[in-house]
Amino acid sequence: MFSFDNRFARELPAAGVAWQPAQVPAPRLLRLNDALARELGADPAVLRGPEGAQVFSGNRVPEGAQPLAQAYAGHQFGGFSPQLGDGRALLLGEVVDVHGRRRDIALKGSGRTPFSRGGDGKAALGPVLREYLVAEAMHALGVPTTRALAAVATGEVVQRDRALPGAVLTRVAASHIRVGTFQFFAVRGQHDQVRALAEHVISRHDPDLAGRDDRFLGLLQGVARRQAALVAQWMNLGFIHGVMNTDNMTLSGETIDYGPCAFMEAFDPEAVFSSIDHGGRYAWRNQPLIARWNLARLAETLLPLLADEPDEAVRLATEVIDAFPAWYDDAWRSGQRAKLGLTTAQPGDAALADDWLALLHTQAVDVTLAWRRLADTAAGQPEPLRDLFVDRAALDAWLARWRERLAADGRDPVTVAVEMRCVNPFVIPRNHRVEEALAAAVDHDDLGPFDRLLAALLRPFDEDADLQRYGEPAPQDLTAGYRTFCGT
Ligand code: AMP
Ligand code: MG
Repeated sequence: MFSFDNRFARELPAAGVAWQPAQVPAPRLLRLNDALARELGADPAVLRGPEGAQVFSGNRVPEGAQPLAQAYAGHQFGGFSPQLGDGRALLLGEVVDVHGRRRDIALKGSGRTPFSRGGDGKAALGPVLREYLVAEAMHALGVPTTRALAAVATGEVVQRDRALPGAVLTRVAASHIRVGTFQFFAVRGQHDQVRALAEHVISRHDPDLAGRDDRFLGLLQGVARRQAALVAQWMNLGFIHGVMNTDNMTLSGETIDYGPCAFMEAFDPEAVFSSIDHGGRYAWRNQPLIARWNLARLAETLLPLLADEPDEAVRLATEVIDAFPAWYDDAWRSGQRAKLGLTTAQPGDAALADDWLALLHTQAVDVTLAWRRLADTAAGQPEPLRDLFVDRAALDAWLARWRERLAADGRDPVTVAVEMRCVNPFVIPRNHRVEEALAAAVDHDDLGPFDRLLAALLRPFDEDADLQRYGEPAPQDLTAGYRTFCGT
């Protein structure tokens, strides 16, 4: 089925506990990601047969897999837990895909493990389908992310605030190694394990560093640069992860754990959707600050590897953490320039972008539509954009500055508009459409809305008649009261 080659299990036996998935009564394959299956070297036709439901529910462990629950610690909302770990997930193993990239295949919702604490180890159908949709949307948007390979209904009932159908998600990732994986060993004083883990991550995610004396510092830099680029992409899309705990930040630079995440509609830097984020710690505008804070926690675990002399280690680590804001800013600003249709960098560009966002904020304009309609404006159709604003004089004043700036680049307006439409999506996973798809699946066993939404999300930069309903913002009152939950 898959050609497993399980380096994590082999090289880091202390970082997980061998464990078997729970048996479920009536596994039914709901959705399979054919393209991803092929990428992993598997035949979708085989996976769609009876074998697929058995394997993706956890009922049968495929040949070559070595299921294990990964250990990790983590800061959750700033408070440290020395032991979290896979409480409802299992790594089945790794495959080298058709492009030569090593990928983890893991189950989520596969039953209790030694790390389950009070939890049932299960996942409900709604959150499984939600992660499927958002992960695949992010991938289509060009954002590094874990992927969804399959969703299976288990035939079980899981108890949350009400009884819900159970499900298992099969997740594919460059690796599932998190900042919290390093913290797990560091807090126990197991520096040899931290070293082994760091060597493993270097060979998987930063192979160019292998064998270099300064490779551990290089690793920290590499992770920080990947996170800078990733969070800048989130920010430019109005994406709010919602639970940026250190156990939810990967070393690979992929977005992981789509729990309480959401895309904002009316632009608001303070936007928070998660029901448990009372202080707004993970609000949209805080995300780069939190990424840096999390990287500092990673840096602490690496100190003994950075230099023999503790002060020197701290100095080297601090240099990286202090460089992060500039790396982030570069990524965020270059993303904005592309969204504005600019190909050169000029001194006034940051102010131009900031003033645009300030305008969206004061007038509570849908951020995704505003950027999209700005592309139309470049093509000579400003009316759809102007319709989004109440104070059109303020918009017109800004547009005059923007047009002047575009003129300085001297590019053909049609080309500019085409390129802007390749970076300013029309379709994002809007909260009301996601909820609509999940409700149909959970309450009526109807995956039609899920399929139609997914199909739309897979071509986010198109804008044809079929896509219109996915590009429209939710009614204002729905968004204002929208809350997301962690309960997978
Ligand atoms: P998350 O908020 O999804 O990143 O999960 C945080 C921690 O809670 C991880 O250690 C999970 O494995 C654990 N966890 C979440 N839900 C469950 C559950 N239903 N059963 C067992 N552990 C869980
Ligand atoms: Mg997590």
